[in-house]
Amino acid sequence: MPLNIIVCIKQVPDTNDMRIDPKTNNLIREGVPAVVNPTDLNSIEEALSFKDKYGARVSVLTMGPPQAEQSLRESIAMGADAAYLLTDRAFGGADTLATSYALWRAILKIQEQDGPTDIVFFGKVAIDGETGQVGPGVAVRLGFPVVSYCSKISKVDLENRFIEAERRVDDGVEVVRVPIPCAITVTEAANEPRQASLDGLIKAKRAKITAFNKDAVQADPKKIGLGGSPTYVKKVVVPPPKKKGEIKEGGSPGEAAKWLVDRLVQIGALGARTGSPSPVQQAGTEMQETKKVPGEHGDVWVYVEHRYGIPARVSWELMGEGKRLAQIYGTKLCAVVIGDNVGDVLSKEAFEYGADAVYLTEHPVLHEYRSETYGVAFANLSNKYHPEVVLMGGTHNGRDLAGVLATIIETGLIADCTSLEVDEKGGFNGTRPDFGGKEMSTIVCPRTKPTMASVRTRVMKMPQRVEGKRGQVISEPIELDEKAVKEKIISFTPMERAVAKLENADIIVSGGRGLGSPKNFALVEELADALGAQVGATRAVVYLDWISKDHQIGQTGVTVRARLYFAVGVSGAVQHIVGMENSDTIVAINKDPEASIFGVAHFGIIGDLFQVVPAIIDELKARGLAKKVAIVAK
Ligand SMILES: Cc1cc2nc3c(=O)[nH]c(=O)nc-3n(C[C@H](O)[C@H](O)[C@H](O)COP(=O)(O)OP(=O)(O)OC[C@H]3O[C@@H](n4cnc5c(N)ncnc54)[C@H](O)[C@@H]3O)c2cc1C
Repeated sequence: MPLNIIVCIKQVPDTNDMRIDPKTNNLIREGVPAVVNPTDLNSIEEALSFKDKYGARVSVLTMGPPQAEQSLRESIAMGADAAYLLTDRAFGGADTLATSYALWRAILKIQEQDGPTDIVFFGKVAIDGETGQVGPGVAVRLGFPVVSYCSKISKVDLENRFIEAERRVDDGVEVVRVPIPCAITVTEAANEPRQASLDGLIKAKRAKITAFNKDAVQADPKKIGLGGSPTYVKKVVVPPPKKKGEIKEGGSPGEAAKWLVDRLVQIGALGARTGSPSPVQQAGTEMQETKKVPGEHGDVWVYVEHRYGIPARVSWELMGEGKRLAQIYGTKLCAVVIGDNVGDVLSKEAFEYGADAVYLTEHPVLHEYRSETYGVAFANLSNKYHPEVVLMGGTHNGRDLAGVLATIIETGLIADCTSLEVDEKGGFNGTRPDFGGKEMSTIVCPRTKPTMASVRTRVMKMPQRVEGKRGQVISEPIELDEKAVKEKIISFTPMERAVAKLENADIIVSGGRGLGSPKNFALVEELADALGAQVGATRAVVYLDWISKDHQIGQTGVTVRARLYFAVGVSGAVQHIVGMENSDTIVAINKDPEASIFGVAHFGIIGDLFQVVPAIIDELKARGLAKKVAIVAK
C-alpha cells in the first residue's frame, strides 16, 4: 500500500519584493509576486522523496483565495499527485488557531476520499508571519505526534511503521522516533527542493484542483475566519526609518580608527566611560513606572524552559517583563516548571529572578521535553489556575509547546513579540514584526484567556537576580504512562561550544564576503582577539566554507544581543540583521556607502576593511585597550 501523504502549503507574498510607499508609509502589497512559502518547498520535496523511495500518493493542500491555486499547480509541477484548495470568504482573517482548525477539517475531508493519512508535512514557518504554530496545531487536532523543526529524516521503517527524525533545536540536535501516522514540520536544512520537470509543468497546467468551501469540510462557522480567531490585529505600523548612526567617510584609516575608538570609549563600550551611555544602553534595564489597571485579573505566568534542569536564558529574560506586567495587573508573577526532579534548582532560580510563586509538575515521563506530555501537563495547570497571560521563549521547543498548548486550551497565541503592553482596559497587547520587520503589528486576544505570547531570546533584557529570594511552590501532580506516549527521544547531542559562546558573547566581530577569501578571516580573528570578542559570520561565508556553520548569525543561524557588535565586510541582508540588530552598539565597516548594514549601525566607517581593521587594532593597542576591554555588565 503506498503511503498517503498530505503537504500543507501557504502562498505568501515575496517579502524581498515588498516596499514601503513613501507617501502613505504603508506596505505596497499590490503587484507583489506571490510565491510558495520557502520551507513549504522543502516539505513538498520531503514528501516527494518518500514517494520516490517507498511509493506514496502526495496530496497538497492550501487554504487561501482562489489565486492560491497557482501554488498548488507549482506543487503538481514538482511531482505532487493531487491538489486541494480550501477557499471561502468565511475563512478570511483566520489566525493560526482558526487556520489549524480549517486545515484539520479539510484533512478529514480528504481522508474520506483517499483513506487514512500517514504523514502530514508542513514547512517550519511561513515567512509572512513566522509563527510556526499551524503544524503543531493541526497535529494536536488529528491526534498525531509532531516532529517540528525536522532537519533530516534519518530512518523510515514501514514494516514497524515508525520514522526517526533529527530536530535541530536551540541547544543541540535531538533524534526522535514517532509512529506513523505523524506530522512533520520541515526546515530548509532537510533537503534542496527540486525544480519542476517539463512533464510536470504540462501535467500541472491540466491538473484538476479540488476546491472545498466551508460547507464541504463541515466547518463550524464559529471556529473559522476572523470570527473564530481568538487573536486579531489591532494596529499595524510601518516602523519609522531607524535614526541614522554616525558615519565616518574620508580621512585616513588611522583617523577613522581614532574617531571610532574615541566614540566607543565615550559611550562606555570600550574602556572607562567618559560620556553618556548609548541610547540603547539607557533603555529598559530598570523597571519602568507601572500604573495598575482596574479590574480583577489572573496571574502572569512564565514558562521555565530547560533541558535536564539547565534553564534556557530566555525564561529568566521573560521574568523581567513578566514582573512589570504582573505589577500592571496587580497580580503575581508565577513560573511554570515542568520536568523530572528539577523543581528545587529551577524554583530557586525562578524566585531569585522575580517569581512570587512556582507551579511545579514533576514526573519521570517528563524527564525530557516532548510536546505531547508537556502540552498536557501545562494545559492541566492552565485549566486549573486560569492565568491572565502565559509567556514563553520563542525557541524551537518554546514555539512547539506554545502551538500545541494554544490548540489544547483553545486560546490565542501571539508569536515573536518584541514588546508587551497592557492597555487602559487591561487588554494584553503584543507587538511583533511581520514580513521580516517591514511592518509591526499589535495583536490582542480579547475573548479567550489566557493570552499566550512568545518572545525570542535576547529581545528582553535580563532582570537583576536577587540571591536568596524565596516564594511559594504549588505542586500539581500528573498521571502519565510512558507506554502511552507516542514520541520517543532516541538521542540528544548538545550544540557545539562555539554556538553557546556566540549566543552569550558580550562582544562579537562578524566577517562577511567582503573579506574576499578564507585566509583573510584572520583579520577578523585578530580584531576579535584584540577586543576579547567571539567571531561571527554571515551565511554567505559559511556557504563558501570560510568558517563553520556554528559561527553563522541570522535568521538561519544564531540570534545574538552583544554589547558591542562589529560587522566587517557584511552587506546587512535582512536575514543577517534579524540575528544581531538587538545588539547595544553596532559598528559597520564597509566600502559601499549604500550598504544596508549602515541602516542599523550606530557607528559606521566607509572604507576598505583591509586598511581600516588593522588601523583599529593598532589604535586599540596604542591606547592599551587591546585584550583588556572592560566588560560593562548589561
Ligand atoms: C532563507 C534565507 C535564510 C538566510 N539566512 C541567513 C542568516 O542566517 N545569516 C546571514 O548572514 N545570511 C542569511 N541569508 C543570506 C543573506 O540573504 C545574504 O546573502 C548574506 O547575509 C550576505 O552575506 P555578506 O554580507 O557576507 O555578503 P555580501 O552581501 O556579498 O556583502 C559583502 C559586503 O562586503 C563589502 N565589501 C567588499 N569588499 C570590501 C572591502 N574591501 N572593504 C569593506 N567592505 C567590503 C561589500 O560592499 C558588501 O556590502 C539567508 C538567505 C535566505 C534566502
